[in-house]
Amino acid sequence: MKIAVIGGGIVGLTTSLELKQSEFRNADITIFASSFNDTTSHVAAGLFRVGNAFSGPTEDVTRKWVKDAYEYYDNIRKSPEAAIAGITEVSGYIFAKSNPNLVENRWLPGLVPVYRKAKIDEFELVGGEWNYGTFFTTLLTECTLHLPWTTLKLQETGVKLIEKKINSINELSPSFDLVINCTGMGARYLCNDRRLVPIRGQVAKVKAPWIKTCFYGELDTYIIPGFNGICTLGGVRSFESESNVICPHEYAAIRERCNKLVPSLAKGETIKHLTGIRPHRETVRVEPEQSPSYGKMKVVHNYGHGGYGVCTAPGTAKYAVHWAKEFQISSSKL
Ligand SMILES: Cc1cc2nc3c(=O)[nH]c(=O)nc-3n(C[C@H](O)[C@H](O)[C@H](O)COP(=O)(O)OP(=O)(O)OC[C@H]3O[C@@H](n4cnc5c(N)ncnc54)[C@H](O)[C@@H]3O)c2cc1C
Repeated sequence: MKIAVIGGGIVGLTTSLELKQSEFRNADITIFASSFNDTTSHVAAGLFRVGNAFSGPTEDVTRKWVKDAYEYYDNIRKSPEAAIAGITEVSGYIFAKSNPNLVENRWLPGLVPVYRKAKIDEFELVGGEWNYGTFFTTLLTECTLHLPWTTLKLQETGVKLIEKKINSINELSPSFDLVINCTGMGARYLCNDRRLVPIRGQVAKVKAPWIKTCFYGELDTYIIPGFNGICTLGGVRSFESESNVICPHEYAAIRERCNKLVPSLAKGETIKHLTGIRPHRETVRVEPEQSPSYGKMKVVHNYGHGGYGVCTAPGTAKYAVHWAKEFQISSSKL
């Protein structure tokens, strides 16, 4: 059986690995991507904090995606490979002044090891005046380490990686039996999907090895310590913007807000500016599609993870492979 996966970000790579760990392990798998080294996944801080608006087709399916994904990363965290795979545990606070709903998360309680209200004296840990807070412990996946680690695992099992833009899914027929479409924002054009909306983000990578805790404040302010003493400072959410230009004014505003929240950051050197486009879809699309134009080739979509694709990718990967298996069962009955 010949399978093409389109997309070399976190969704495409984890889906390919899931295929290799399923009954498709003997399939001939090729990953096509316009780029393997410059994806939205490379920009993400990689914190496992799924937003309240994140949504699959049903509540139960979405909950399973989140749980499967957490367990996937947590198993790597507990293994000797955690450091080279870029997975670690991190704790942090979310603070808000205006509204208690801002500090509540519907997916994390009962999943992560620690999730509780912040105590009043913990509001004093940072600058600003806060009325509400949550403390939690979760996972972090550093994609600049995790994507190369996953790529190596795929190559060891014979998966081929080809840098190539796919202009139409039809062009893969009849060479492939099954296509899994993990193109993130690229699906807007590949599938003419107008429900996929770009939400631009901008972050600064700052050397601040003394910061060991995450902090979130209002106005999309966040400080997330990653590997090698580098913190991700954010952020920005610009709806319907696909610009990858670094905006100096947004950088200045991010620094001002983050430095106010954690004043010691003022001494942190900015080493990189990054922008990325979150592929937002009200319902993340993980479903099969059969169309006469594909001929006998089957297609499963897996895109639209918005601002939560790093943390949820292994969960939707399992679900995409489930649909691929359903296709196999239905064709074997013909
Ligand atoms: C500033 C910022 C911070 C973020 N922080 C977090 C976070 O802390 N936690 C979290 O979980 N998520 C976070 N995210 C969201 C996360 O980055 C995305 O949800 C995730 O990267 C989406 O992964 P993906 O594989 O679908 O897309 P991408 O990483 O964009 O990969 C898409 C792939 O498809 C390829 N492609 C597209 N079109 C075609 C085509 N026609 N032919 C061939 N190849 C094609 C691309 O080249 C690429 O390889 C953040 C995003 C931003 C912008």
